[in-house]
Amino acid sequence: MTLMNYTEKVVYERLKEYADQHRDEFCTCKKCVEDIMAFALNRLPPHYVATKLGEVVTDVKLTEAPDRVKVLTEVVRAIRQVAQHPSHSDNKPSALRE
Ligand SMILES: [Zn+2]
Repeated sequence: MTLMNYTEKVVYERLKEYADQHRDEFCTCKKCVEDIMAFALNRLPPHYVATKLGEVVTDVKLTEAPDRVKVLTEVVRAIRQVAQHPSHSDNKPSALRE
């Protein structure tokens, strides 16, 4: 069994969605994505689930997952915060769109 923070998965999905809808409005390089994730995750309650290795977490477990609107609010807040204080030196390719 392995423990995973389901909030992390939800935050990443919201961030990806938001980035798709707001293309090129903020930097999505690896460093910025990690900063955004860390900022948002520090402000949201963790939701740990135990999974077998390689098991896909299904929507059944989603019923207990963090509220999606709340997650999106924190993701947008994190994006603004990181955009104001980016820790990258120059423009880097997106880590969200391969
Ligand atoms: Zn960046």
